[in-house]
This record gives sequence, structure tokens and C-alpha cells, in this order.
Amino acid sequence: MRSVAEHAALVAHLTPVTPVERIPLEAATGLVLGTDLRASIDLPPFPNSAMDGYAVRAAEVASAPVEMLVSQDIPAGRLDIPPLAPGTAARIMTGAPIPDGADAVVPVEQTSAGTDRVRIDVATEAGRHVRPLGSDVPAGTVVLSRGTHIRAPQVGLAAALGNAELSVHRPLRVLVLSTGSELVAPGEPLQRGQIYESNAPMLAAAIAAAGARPTVAHFVADDVDEFRSAFAAAAIGVDLVVTSGGVSAGAYEVVKDALTGRGVEFAKVAMQPGMPQGAGLVEIESLGTPARSVPVVTLPGNPVSAFVSFEVFLRPAILAAMGHPVRRQHRPSRLLLLGQPLTSIPGKRQFRRGLLDRTAGTVAAFGGPGSHLLGWLAGADCLLVVPEQVTELAAGDPVEVWDLT
Ligand code: AMP
Ligand code: MG
Repeated sequence: MRSVAEHAALVAHLTPVTPVERIPLEAATGLVLGTDLRASIDLPPFPNSAMDGYAVRAAEVASAPVEMLVSQDIPAGRLDIPPLAPGTAARIMTGAPIPDGADAVVPVEQTSAGTDRVRIDVATEAGRHVRPLGSDVPAGTVVLSRGTHIRAPQVGLAAALGNAELSVHRPLRVLVLSTGSELVAPGEPLQRGQIYESNAPMLAAAIAAAGARPTVAHFVADDVDEFRSAFAAAAIGVDLVVTSGGVSAGAYEVVKDALTGRGVEFAKVAMQPGMPQGAGLVEIESLGTPARSVPVVTLPGNPVSAFVSFEVFLRPAILAAMGHPVRRQHRPSRLLLLGQPLTSIPGKRQFRRGLLDRTAGTVAAFGGPGSHLLGWLAGADCLLVVPEQVTELAAGDPVEVWDLT
């Protein structure tokens, strides 16, 4: 049997890192910066007021109270601003440019709030309530380095610096193709012997959550020819194909039958759930385009097996292919103490669904090990990883926990 690490390495090597492209800022969330981003302007781009109040020469307000003429009004957005006449104050709003000559702002609460004349009640000093040019980000500095995961604050900063586009690793295009003659699309009536297709929607959701771009091909029956033609049609223009079902040891294993000897290596991996796996490069030919190889990962059909296999093999490979550094390719993992005992099978790494008890700081298995237990999977918030050689864990024993939330 192949080890989990061996199969993970095989899957990880199938998908190269996507090219760096300029993409609109609003589409960059969740992606990874492909080049360092340098500030082309200062932030703030001009000295401005941190308060609603009065811009003054601090030396003229070294003691208080002092009464002054209000010589001008400066709302945010005003562009034509004369210098501050000596002996006067300028009424100024938050974010408005400090007029030349002024070097401090007195908050309106510390004044009489007048519009023609103002009494300033509190003495000030140079620099008070002024946001200097470049005090947040000086022009020329690297503000976001290559490899940064773009989230809301990074989008905000990029926009504040005037970037309408960012250079990011483009999303990996992942095709999901489910197999099974028993499958019916959700929304359709169900007959005895049929089940709703749930793997493709689940995997597409997981792929999207990793920042990649899923497309779902219509599922196919357990028929080798049907599978091959659906595969050839749908795999055009994608970076990775993920199939579900048809890879175990029974008869009618359509994916195995269709792709054996065509670049995919099928193996038993020492894990539970998710033992039957396959991965490799499949050559596809389409009219008018040169033949090329597409990475294919074949997941088992049981929903929990498909999900766990995605977490163990595909999610890290997808994140790596989209430029994430190693430390972000894996779920946050830690050791927690078990609230309940659990048993595992020898020789396989077991992935159990778990529930965190955040108050007690412990964790417990949630539901049994059965790989059809989708109801329990949906109620769990973590995976428990029980090593190959461990068959029993007592309450209070430490267990490795992958946080899925
Ligand atoms: P297989 O790997 O094709 O032998 O399928 C194993 C189990 O998973 C069977 O009970 C299938 O009915 C079920 N299964 C396979 N594919 C799907 C799917 N796309 N959605 C839901 N269940 C599935
Ligand atoms: Mg099947």
C-alpha cells in the first residue's frame, strides 16, 4: 500500500504553479500576489487633518484662550487652498489638506466653533492632529510582498495606493466530473436505487473556497465510452481534472477502466477513509488544438472519502499551484486532548470527523468512521488524524486536529 505522504507528493507534483497575471483588483480577493507591490505614491498623499477643527500656526496658540479670525473654510476634497494668513485660523474637516503655514489642528470641541471668529480654548503644539505626508506608507516602499494572500485589508491598501489591478497567480481552473449510474441531479425526482449527486457540488464548493475556479461537468453513467467522451470534451482549457467514483475494487469501476494505461496510476493508499486513489497526467486531443497532458486526480465516490481525499491531497496541491507558501498549504493543525476515547484500525492513517469543545479546549470524534456519513461530516468542524500504528486513544490522550472552520 502507498503511504499518505507518497500519494500527496505525487498529487502535488502534477499541478505546476499558475502564471502571474494582471487582474482587476475586485477579482483578486483570495489570490496570491505574484510580484512585490511597491507604493507609487505617499500615503497620506498630502498632509491632512486628523480632526474636524481649526488649522492654526501652533506658535500662535502656545497659550489659551486666544481669539482669531477664521480666514477660510477647508472641507475634504477642496483643491484650491491659499496659505494660512498669519494670525488667523482655517476651519478644517477631517481628511482636508492642511494649508501651507499651518502646522496644527485644534479639535472643534476645544473651541467656540465659530465661523467668522473662533475662540480657541486649549493650547496646542506643532504637529498636533496633523497626518503628515507619507506617515502611513512612504512612496517607494514595498507594501505587500510576493506571496501575500490577498484579503480585504490588502485590497483596501492596494486601492488606497491607486492600483486598479494586481499581479497575482491566476486561479487554477479545476474541472469536476462525477461518475455513477445511480446519480440524479438535485431538484429531480428520485427513484428507489438512485441518489442525488452530491460530490460535484461539494467538491466545487471546496475548490472555490481554496480560491480556485471550479467548473462542473454533468455527471456520467458507469460507461467507459461515455466517460471518455465526456472527459475529452470537458477537460479542454482546464488545469486539473478531479473525478469522483469508479475507482474501487468492484466491477463497473468506470474511471479505473477508462484511465488505466492512459497515464493515471491507481493505488491503495494507507488511509481511512479514502483508500482507493488515482493520479496522473492524461493526454487529451481536441480538434484544432495540439495534444496536451492534463493532470487528473481520481477520488473515491463515497462522499466522506471524497471530502477527506480533497483535504489531504487536493487542497494542499491547489494552494501550492496558486502560489501559496508551504505554511499556508495546510489546515491549521494542533494537538488537542480527546474528550472521549476512540479506536482506529491498524496500518492506516485514520481521518475522523471531530467536534471542538472550545470551552473545555478538548475535541471528540463526531459520528462513526463510515465513509457515507455525510450528515455527520456536515456537522463536524475538524478532522482528527490518528496515526497508522495507533489503534486506541483514551480520553485525555492528545490527538492531531485539523481545523476546517
Ligand atoms: P464508487 O466509488 O463509485 O464505488 O461509489 C461509492 C459510494 O459513493 C456509492 O455508495 C455511491 O453511490 C456513492 N457515490 C458515488 N458518487 C457519488 C456522488 N457523486 N454523489 C453522492 N454519492 C456518490
Ligand atoms: Mg460509482
